[in-house]
Amino acid sequence: MKASPDPFDCVVVGGGAVGAAVALGMAQTGHRVALVERKPRPVFADTAPVTRVATLNAASMALLEHLGVAESVLRRRGHAFYRMAVWDANSSAELTFDADELGVPALGWTVEHLALEATLWEALEATEAVLLPDTRWRALDWRPDRIDLHLEDRRVLGARLLVAADGAESPLRARAGIPVRRHPYHAKGVVATVSTRFPHQDTAWQRFNQEQILAFLPLADGRCSIVWSQPEFDAEDVLELDDASFAAALRDALGGRLGEIESVSPRAAWELVGRQAQDYSRGRLVLVGDAAHTIHPLAGQGLNLGLADVRELLRLSPAGPGSDPASPAALSAYTRSRRVENETMLRSMEALRWLFGSSLPLVASARALGVTQVDRTLALKRFFALRALGPQG
Ligand SMILES: Cc1cc2nc3c(=O)[nH]c(=O)nc-3n(C[C@H](O)[C@H](O)[C@H](O)COP(=O)(O)OP(=O)(O)OC[C@H]3O[C@@H](n4cnc5c(N)ncnc54)[C@H](O)[C@@H]3O)c2cc1C
Repeated sequence: MKASPDPFDCVVVGGGAVGAAVALGMAQTGHRVALVERKPRPVFADTAPVTRVATLNAASMALLEHLGVAESVLRRRGHAFYRMAVWDANSSAELTFDADELGVPALGWTVEHLALEATLWEALEATEAVLLPDTRWRALDWRPDRIDLHLEDRRVLGARLLVAADGAESPLRARAGIPVRRHPYHAKGVVATVSTRFPHQDTAWQRFNQEQILAFLPLADGRCSIVWSQPEFDAEDVLELDDASFAAALRDALGGRLGEIESVSPRAAWELVGRQAQDYSRGRLVLVGDAAHTIHPLAGQGLNLGLADVRELLRLSPAGPGSDPASPAALSAYTRSRRVENETMLRSMEALRWLFGSSLPLVASARALGVTQVDRTLALKRFFALRALGPQG
């Protein structure tokens, strides 16, 4: 089949949270949009077990409000948290953040990926966008005024702007020949849902213990979603423990702050790799979300950075009759602003991991001193917290 003589303004490949948000934003500004996703359409059921959880910052929540989906996402087991406690197992270093003290409504929200994706897809259904779940592409044809995406079922989608939102191993990025710098952390993130003896107090808890970083994120039903990053061999050992031994190891790894771990869900683990694409666009193709960058989950910022890409692309990409959504000026402005911001976050995470991970006595005492100083100084705390909350935090 030939390409339609009238290409779409924007074709998004990858219908995860980032791709679905781009597609929705583009459709709402009057663009003709198609969304291609290799998996089935996401469906969320209130009765289903909790799966992958992310923390959203205020800037991400503002984007979801702008797209008209924030309320629906929060109604689907989303949960606000008002405090954060971050401490070090090997020194007296401890940082606490409080929404009231910082003058913000909340420090963040825990949401389930599936709830976010399903809500965005439902909102897309109310637009003119063409949704293509269960669909794969096989070839690209680069033309001066568009890119033709050849699908496996022989249809061809013409795209004035082709958005690669196809995840960390982005096949589109590879096909475009955009090099990516990889930084393997030689670590895995073990995730599970647990219930604890003491209530989570609407607080996000995080304990550093050299190369182990453990986060307990508060959920709406009183349980916590955990992300436990640790060296690969340790993670494999932890995955093999029976539930009772896992619960005991987890209790100790959190220094007993929430008491006994009373129940644990099945566990999963992800290999942790930092990535940064050397360019975020090539011709009419642009990268967003994990296709452009991935970072260590220690600050829970991966999805927030992806949603920040979406906000910036929607802001810069020309809309309205006769405008070209892939204008070279807009795409290079997007690359400049997002690459710098994401690189800064990637390096900050490296520094934080090194600072908390080092057992050198000098670093350990500097760490205790520095962190205590930050904790005592409200202005510094505001600085760190507002960075994590995002530009509109
Ligand atoms: C252990 C762990 C914990 C994390 N915790 C947090 C957190 O607390 N807060 C946070 O902000 N971030 C967190 N992150 C990061 C976050 O999960 C990711 O940054 C985010 O999911 C990226 O979204 P995305 O839409 O860019 O990519 P993905 O969610 O990977 O979506 C990509 C989509 O593209 C589709 N796709 C791939 N190839 C094709 C193809 N050829 N054709 C069509 N479709 C295709 C896939 O099926 C998928 O639906 C965490 C990550 C890890 C590993």
